[in-house]
Formats: sequence, structure tokens, C-alpha cells
Amino acid sequence: MEEWVIAVDLGGTLLRVALCNNQGEIQARHVEPTLAEEGPESVLMRLIASVRRLGDSVGWDRIQAIGVSSPGPLDPWRGVIHWSPNLPGWHQVPLVERLQAAVGRPVFLGNDANLAALAEQRRGAGRGQSDLVYLTISTGIGGGVISHGRLVLGRGGLAGEVGHMTLEANGPRCNCGNIGCLEALASGTAIARQARELVAAGARTRIADLAAGDLDRIDARLVHQAASDGDVVAVDLFRKAGVYLGIGLVNLMYLFNPALFVIGGGVAKAGDLLFVPMHATLRARIHEIYWKDCPVVPAALGDDVGLIGAAILAWERGEV
Ligand SMILES: [Zn+2]
Repeated sequence: MEEWVIAVDLGGTLLRVALCNNQGEIQARHVEPTLAEEGPESVLMRLIASVRRLGDSVGWDRIQAIGVSSPGPLDPWRGVIHWSPNLPGWHQVPLVERLQAAVGRPVFLGNDANLAALAEQRRGAGRGQSDLVYLTISTGIGGGVISHGRLVLGRGGLAGEVGHMTLEANGPRCNCGNIGCLEALASGTAIARQARELVAAGARTRIADLAAGDLDRIDARLVHQAASDGDVVAVDLFRKAGVYLGIGLVNLMYLFNPALFVIGGGVAKAGDLLFVPMHATLRARIHEIYWKDCPVVPAALGDDVGLIGAAILAWERGEV
């Protein structure tokens, strides 16, 4: 009789729940909008109902555990979500206790970016590597560090926040409250913000044409389109982001000496626009002993990365 875990990927936009085997294969899934604006009680009720339905469908005696991937900051050992910019109204929510009480099975909780790093290392682009750093570049920059095959979590489970390394002492304010974070300089939000500033200041750029005068329409995707059309202003925005990404990787190479970087997220789809200046920065700033055997590769797992990470967390019973 096959045994299962239930994986939950609680995102700011979508709530995904899946039944997974120990190969990380998804047997059944349910996806619904998180409706985060309804607040924690409503989201928790729907999360529990969704988990119940999947467990009922195969019988609870076959469910070994439940793994939950959630935006943080959170405490993976106490199973408490401290708060989250993506989940309005969530403050010290004891998610593990609530879900465990509702379904009577062990529940394990992890930070979404950390679990994505774990998933890529165990089942994705980093398979076979025991030391890697994962970054996801989208509206923000998240990530995780795997050292000697284990997630680096720190004392309270708050480690691995690669997007909040300070790169500019007097740089732009970050959403986290700090100044000059990698996220404030190289995320999709940062690229779009700089593009809006340039257009507002009257720069001659295809970005302005594509936005048809509406600053709110400028996002990283639109800047990427302008860059693909050969617009020098847009190309330069990606170049700057790529340089900052390179500086971030230099810091991470000095700290962790990884064998591999895995890069995911929508902004990474800009490809050479970002990665050529990033590689040039590495070569110019850090000795080749660090970078010559340390490839930077795209993430392999796509939208299921959160579910797969949560399933691994459940199978390994939180000992990741
Ligand atoms: Zn920050």
C-alpha cells in the first residue's frame, strides 16, 4: 500500500494543496485563490478544508505527515508565522497547532524560499550537490542556503535571506525596512521603479512608448520587452541589476563557497541581459578559485517548487 504526504503551498495569491509520494510526484492537487485579504481565520479554514478533502480521498491511515510552505518570517520549530507582507493580518499565527488539531497528523512548516532551495537541491537543478545557494528573483528576491546537504536556518529559522544583504549603504529603502538591500536594487520591483523614475524625468526610451504614458503600466516584464527591442535605457536597467546580482553572488561565495547557484523567478527569464553583466562582475571582483567550478544555473522545478519542498519537509519530518 502506497504511503503519502500532503503538501501545502500557501502563497499570497494561490493556495495549492497536493498529495505526494516519496519520489516527490504529485498524485492529486487542488488549487484555489488564497483570498489573503479575508484574513488569517478565513484562509486557515479553507486550507484545513482542502487538506481534509485530500486526506479523506485516500484515507488518513496512509498519510504520513503534512508539510506547509509559507511566506515568512516564521518559526519552523514552533510552527508559528510571525507575520508576512503577503498575508495581511497574520501575526503570530500558530498554523502547525491549528492544522495538527484539525487533522490529527504531524505537520511541519517551512519558509517558502528555504523550501524551494531544498526542493531544487533534492529533486531539481541542484540534485547531487550538497552545497548550493538558491535565489528567486521576481517582485522580491528570496532564497535559501544548503550547506553539507542541510538547510542553513539559524537560531530562529530566519537565516538565508539572501535578498536582504545590504549592497549600498545609502541605497534605496527596501520593503523590509533596511536600506540598499539586493532586493531593493535588482528585483523586478526595483527595475520597474527605476524605469518609472527615468520615464517621469523625460528619458527617451521605448519603455515610455510601450507604457503609452501610463507609469503604472511599467513593470519588469515591460522593461524586458523594451530591452528585447534593443532599447538602450532598458538594457542598461538590466545591466545594473545584473551587476548588483553579481555583487550579491560575490558576498555569497565568500560566505558559503557553494558548488552551484540555482536561480529561479520571473526576472531570471531576462537571461543574458542579466547574466552577462553578473558573470562579468564575478570575474572582476573575486578570485577564480571561487567561481571557476561554481556554475550559475536556472531553477528546474517551475510552479510546483513550493509543493515539492513542502512534501520533502514532510517526508523528512522537519529534519532538513
Ligand atoms: Zn531588504
